[in-house]
Amino acid sequence: LPQTADTIFRQARLPSGSQANIVVTGGRITAIEADPARLGAAKATVDLAGALVLPGFVEGHIHLDKCWIGDVWKPYKPYSAGFNVRERLGFEAELLADAAPMDKRASALIELAISNGSTNIRSHVDVDATVGLRHLETLVAVRERYRDMVTIELVAFPQHGILACPGTAELLDRAIAAGADRIGGIDPASMDRDVEGQLDIVFAIAERRDVDVDIHLHDPGLLGIFQLEQIAARTSALGMQGKVAVSHAYCLGDVALDMARRTAAALAEAGVAIMTNAPGSRPFPPIKELRAAGVVVFSGNDNVRDSWWPYGEADMLQRAMLLGYCSGFFTDEDLSLAFELVTSNGARALGLADYGLAPGARADFVVVDAEHVQEAVVARPVRKAVYKSGRLVAHNGVYCGG
Ligand SMILES: [Zn+2]
Repeated sequence: LPQTADTIFRQARLPSGSQANIVVTGGRITAIEADPARLGAAKATVDLAGALVLPGFVEGHIHLDKCWIGDVWKPYKPYSAGFNVRERLGFEAELLADAAPMDKRASALIELAISNGSTNIRSHVDVDATVGLRHLETLVAVRERYRDMVTIELVAFPQHGILACPGTAELLDRAIAAGADRIGGIDPASMDRDVEGQLDIVFAIAERRDVDVDIHLHDPGLLGIFQLEQIAARTSALGMQGKVAVSHAYCLGDVALDMARRTAAALAEAGVAIMTNAPGSRPFPPIKELRAAGVVVFSGNDNVRDSWWPYGEADMLQRAMLLGYCSGFFTDEDLSLAFELVTSNGARALGLADYGLAPGARADFVVVDAEHVQEAVVARPVRKAVYKSGRLVAHNGVYCGG
């Protein structure tokens, strides 16, 4: 070790089960050293006393502009007659108009996510002709305030459709110049009734602006499968393997397993990742089948206490537990897979190059009292400490990033 380290975290229990000391300098892990005699000097030392150290959690899908966290409780409004997206969007507009300021609510949700161990966040943010760039501008400012405490990327999300909401295509393009990092889409078939039309716009912006794509796809059954095939084909044709994700893709859980497998093979071939939050009220993608096919599956909390549903704590360990709970995951290997979805797989889907508990990686990690990853998933112990680039940002489940 050529220089004095910033901090040595002593006696960390690693996910592998071995004990080691983690050396951090300049916000990065510079060494993971089992032998204390080889540690050298440091400006500070933290004794972890054998606590388990986990890589920072990756919140791969959240909506920071929608939540009621940081506001008063707003009861969920039921549909007048069965599921109807347009009616829900009306409820949302009504409730948001009366809500606490967005920067206050988004800040509260960010602090909650950090306190639960998320060190990277992908948030979708509404950008369409009904709200213009207002939500985006607010979240860009909020992101700036939290830049040293968490890494946030923003997906320009056309909640009301693109062709169905004239003016949205131009706004999405402008959104990238205004601070959005990714381009989104939503149910090209059911929202726009024009699959090729919406995908033409989304992929043209992705190509022109050189940004990744993350498309919300709730359309069920064969209608959804058809759109996954179109998305995979475009991804391959444009050489965008590894830069495209589809969120939800419920259809993969609706169709027969052989069709889900065939579609998974096409997604893997095209390098299209799938985000699932394991909703409790409907089928969702078969995680193990997708992994067997080579698809990167990652996760996120999606809506957290907003007009869409009343649940959520922005806790990715809780999400890992729910992924396993709803998927019938029981073995240690299965629980480890649930954990991968909220950590390393999220990092792959988000394209985080310097992620993980390894020399050279950003010093983003979470300390808990647990024997191993499996116990962390089922017990969801209090986050004793959360570090972002080596900086303490939460302590005993409470945000302390300043
Ligand atoms: Zn969403």
